[in-house]
Amino acid sequence: MPAQIIEGKVIAKTLRTKIKKRVDFFKAKGIVPGLAVVLVGEDPASQIYVKNKAQACQECGIKSEVIKLPSTIQEKVLLTLMEKLNKRRDIHGILVQLPLPQHLSAEVIIEAINPAKDVDGLHPVNMGKLLAGNPALIPCTPYGCLKLIQSTGCAVSGKKAVVIGRSNLVGKPMAVLLLRENATVTACHSYTQDLVEITRSADILVVAVGKPGLITGEMIKSGALVLDVGMNRLPTGKLTGDVDFSSAAEIAGWITPVPGGVGPLTITMLLENTLEAAYEQEDILH
Ligand code: NAP
Repeated sequence: MPAQIIEGKVIAKTLRTKIKKRVDFFKAKGIVPGLAVVLVGEDPASQIYVKNKAQACQECGIKSEVIKLPSTIQEKVLLTLMEKLNKRRDIHGILVQLPLPQHLSAEVIIEAINPAKDVDGLHPVNMGKLLAGNPALIPCTPYGCLKLIQSTGCAVSGKKAVVIGRSNLVGKPMAVLLLRENATVTACHSYTQDLVEITRSADILVVAVGKPGLITGEMIKSGALVLDVGMNRLPTGKLTGDVDFSSAAEIAGWITPVPGGVGPLTITMLLENTLEAAYEQEDILH
């Protein structure tokens, strides 16, 4: 039987409606949750991502401030900006759009963000808290993947979960989140041997690599839940994931499409994190 499609767009819309209601709750108290998005340089993809983030904020009533800076900006100027944003009471979340130009260290800039405002969840303090199992701001894409898994009603506890990709942005936090949910987790990467054998054992398979068609139907366990994080632009201009959707959908129990699967959740979880940061900073109980 073909897989059930996990409709990320629909799930994101439902979550955003709830977020908007919570934003209204803040506004009734005279507080507008605020997000600063810092964009360095002219990278076209980054410009689109930033525009989409600002638009999503607007739709939910969150104030967004996009700060556009030239690609030649010096690190110390950017660090001074971080200090200023850290101090501003009206800014609850700070996001620095990655990648940064080569002369800037993303690590240094991210570490300059107050962890309480680190809505991308990439600051070592938030990473450490996540690893330790303490409340943290969680990186948006894996957080969104978890929401998608939960939306299916499938159990995670005790299941075999395989995550392909081990970036700080997606793979590593995804593996930790699944571990936190009591899955038995295997993390795969470019040195992994016998990938097929491992993926075929997965009840839950999360693919975050950036290689179109890496995972085909024959690599998937019958009935598995498959999340395709990959976003690859083909020479034709078409957007595609890391999973060969048509063969995988014949075998999987659940699967996300690309586009319209994980992508819409990433921005939604950014809004969620901004709200979480606002609750903490304004000392408001949920
Ligand atoms: P990344 O930093 O380039 O990491 C890719 C990972 O894939 C690395 O850990 C790499 O292993 C591993 N890998 C490469 N080739 C492999 C292979 N043949 N077999 C197994 N593992 C392999 O990428 P990322 O930032 O995590 O993003 C991954 C994909 O997700 C990209 O397509 C990106 O555009 C997409 N993405 C989508 C969203 C969304 O909102 N939908 C958000 C973020 C990213 P090594 O560590 O050994 O090099």
